[in-house]
Amino acid sequence: MVATMSDAVPTSAPRASEIVDRFGRSFNYLRLSLIERCNLRCVYCMPEEGMNFKEAPELLTTAEIDRLIRMAASFGVDKVRLTGGEPLLRRDIIEIVHNAATTEGIAGVALTTNGVLLERLAGSLCDAGLSAINISLDTLKAERFAQITRRLRLEDVKRGIDAALSASFAQIKLNVVAMRGFNDDEIVDFVRLADDKRLTVRFIELMPFDADQIWKRGRFFGAERIKQVLLQHFSDLESDSGSSTEAHVFRRRGAKGKLAIIPAYTRDICRDCNRIRITADGKIRNCLFSNQEFDLRDAMRAGADDAALGKILCQAMLEKPVDGWAAQRQDDVSATDPRTSMTQIGG
Ligand code: SAM
Ligand code: SF4
Repeated sequence: MVATMSDAVPTSAPRASEIVDRFGRSFNYLRLSLIERCNLRCVYCMPEEGMNFKEAPELLTTAEIDRLIRMAASFGVDKVRLTGGEPLLRRDIIEIVHNAATTEGIAGVALTTNGVLLERLAGSLCDAGLSAINISLDTLKAERFAQITRRLRLEDVKRGIDAALSASFAQIKLNVVAMRGFNDDEIVDFVRLADDKRLTVRFIELMPFDADQIWKRGRFFGAERIKQVLLQHFSDLESDSGSSTEAHVFRRRGAKGKLAIIPAYTRDICRDCNRIRITADGKIRNCLFSNQEFDLRDAMRAGADDAALGKILCQAMLEKPVDGWAAQRQDDVSATDPRTSMTQIGG
């Protein structure tokens, strides 16, 4: 979800995006969800029985995905992240990556995955042009993994991480959602992973996007608290640079990898937001915390040309609220959000 690939993407031919809002922000980063289904059932994302997942005819097709990326690139989008649901469940994933990576104007394609299917796919994804990969992993303990994800796939994920490290991605990040009483006692072990592995371990605040609302039950473990734990345990942390969502970035002296903290819930990162979100069924969400949607899929299926699609995209982003708090206030409170989980919004 909350991820960027700024230091993985070649900086040649930078071009200002024409997609702007009323607050002076411009948007060059498209986060595209490919699917709602998933092979895990993380407790902070969805209930055990899953959700009412959208079926294939409702999802964007390969051709529609290619077209939206081309259209967005023509307005100055130069980075794309593919996410979901679990994007590696799409059978056309390699084709989607290849097409995105060869789209004129696109400088970097990234993907967020739970890593379960990565061992088999890492090499082909890299060959297809994927430059950056984020792998989500919240615990290194088998029993806990089963508790958090309700599946027994930890060894698959570990092999997936190794496969990613063996492939030549420009950037690999490990996303760890920090939760009080679930995995806050593993922060130190995760930090040590970055000692000898070329990856960034990112601790992310829990957000209220899960159908079960576990975040209301005392699980929240904030960015400042995470930082305290790091500073308490490690005296050799040096500040480093990272992406715009990474509020604190460190590297242990001599370590191969980096550490970062993402205040995804406290939202002091909105002023630098550069992202456009499109759901797996082709709706633009101009803010993660807003339930307003702008429909590209139905416009495409009704015969809209690229100029009309561009107009929808630019208007949607022009209307972006100043920050996630304003987005929540502006929402029509009488309308229940049809998307209660990150798997439906696109993480
Ligand atoms: N299935 C893929 C995965 O897990 O990496 C991609 C989609 S997932 C929705 C994207 C990211 O959103 C993951 O890193 C996951 O940990 C994060 N996420 C999901 N629900 C969240 C929540 N309630 N709070 C914070 N992060 C969440
Ligand atoms: Fe699946 Fe990712 Fe949600 Fe976990 S966070 S249930 S892996 S979509």
